[in-house]
Amino acid sequence: MIKDIQNKLKNKEITCTDLAQSYLNKIKDNQDLNCFISLSENVLNEAKKIDEKIQKNEELKPLDGIFIAVKDNILVKGMYCTAASKMLEDYIAAYDATVINKLKDAGAIIIGKTNMDEFAMGSSNETSAFGKVLNPINKECVPGGSSGGSACAINKELSTIALGSDTAGSIRQPACFCGVVGFKPSYGSVSRYGLISMSSSLDQIGPITSSVEDSEIIFNIIKGIDQNDSTTSEVKDLNLKNKITIGLPKEYFQDLDDDVKEFMDQAITELKNQGFDLKEISLPHTKYALPCYDIIMPAEVSSNLSRYDNIRYGTHFDKLTKDISINDLDDVYLKIRGEKLGKEVKRRILLGMFILSAGYYDAYYTKAQKVRQILINEFENIFKDVDFILTPTTPTKAFRFNEKQDPVKMYQSDILTVSANLTGLPAISLPVHTSDLPVGIQIIGQRFEDLNLLSIAKQIEKICTTSN
Ligand code: GLN
Repeated sequence: MIKDIQNKLKNKEITCTDLAQSYLNKIKDNQDLNCFISLSENVLNEAKKIDEKIQKNEELKPLDGIFIAVKDNILVKGMYCTAASKMLEDYIAAYDATVINKLKDAGAIIIGKTNMDEFAMGSSNETSAFGKVLNPINKECVPGGSSGGSACAINKELSTIALGSDTAGSIRQPACFCGVVGFKPSYGSVSRYGLISMSSSLDQIGPITSSVEDSEIIFNIIKGIDQNDSTTSEVKDLNLKNKITIGLPKEYFQDLDDDVKEFMDQAITELKNQGFDLKEISLPHTKYALPCYDIIMPAEVSSNLSRYDNIRYGTHFDKLTKDISINDLDDVYLKIRGEKLGKEVKRRILLGMFILSAGYYDAYYTKAQKVRQILINEFENIFKDVDFILTPTTPTKAFRFNEKQDPVKMYQSDILTVSANLTGLPAISLPVHTSDLPVGIQIIGQRFEDLNLLSIAKQIEKICTTSN
């Protein structure tokens, strides 16, 4: 954890170089988990600089000596950024994402780029062009997706902290499956500049950590207005009431696996015993959230991914292997996109093009936008009665590889997380450790009240997660 590590560094109980070396050794020992797509070459040099600073008794910056694993769809200048796609396999980022700039300014050392589902499309890491990540607790199971590499790395302590991105649950669901904390901030609270876009009105960068405190430290560093992302805003100040009411939406407790239900019931009882005011609520439009996402997301995906044609990004088409013969412009698009993009990505591009085509636009896209507004209103209204909403993060624990071959079944994984993206609300997943695979508790807060959410999450973490 960030504070422990910094204290040990300051008290000279450990050196930053030893810490770096131990992370690098552990990454090597756990190579079979396939968490990283590339590693930074500067880790030991950067660590040495921190040790020199400590030797000179210079004051440490908030993240000096802290190592960070970055999902491979966030740009780090000079490092590969593949989005786990063959399309970008030799793309090297020309600039730092805003979050990376801020983390570097605070002293953080980038350790490597983590594996993920291709272009962040997936819930199991099985769509990565560089092989799947394994679940660190049970290697026959998926780590979740799309930020599976980051979540697995935190579970195995291959880095101090990690970054992920979340469009429908890609931070929270893998955090849940790997037994760590995953926080999706309010839409607009953290800049998306330098994040490879999937669905721009839903994407959000956030931390994956071993404690809520670490997520809070990272959030306070990466949040804020950025002139390179016009959707950014300041978050509200911490302003937590004395008496907190937490809503339990009945629609989120249906169709849960027995063991998820059992651990949720236990957590709810413990919270009641600690004096929390919990009450059942209803969010009746929940059943439309996933269908609404399944229209808006592919529509945005199809336009965002149109830029990948191996002319501007990726290996230029004239440097490609002889296997692809290019005769005219159509070949550039059909053959290269056909070959370099994975099946799931192509499925979504085709679906998106269909949704946005003349004659269908209003029937699908416009209608989905209306449903999205209804969901936003529904959450706004419920927050007149309750301060936070508590739900399971996922209806099941981590599932087995190849278990969800049918894409529609795979899409169901996001059923409890997707509403927070459609409504722009902040949401966090806290781990409940069980004798086998973990369960996740999700807490959803009000827009731009991220600091209140993190504060209540710290209280709930103490009650529900440490004793298990
Ligand atoms: N499972 C979601 C999807 O495949 C996750 C997307 C995300 O949050 N990046 O669309």
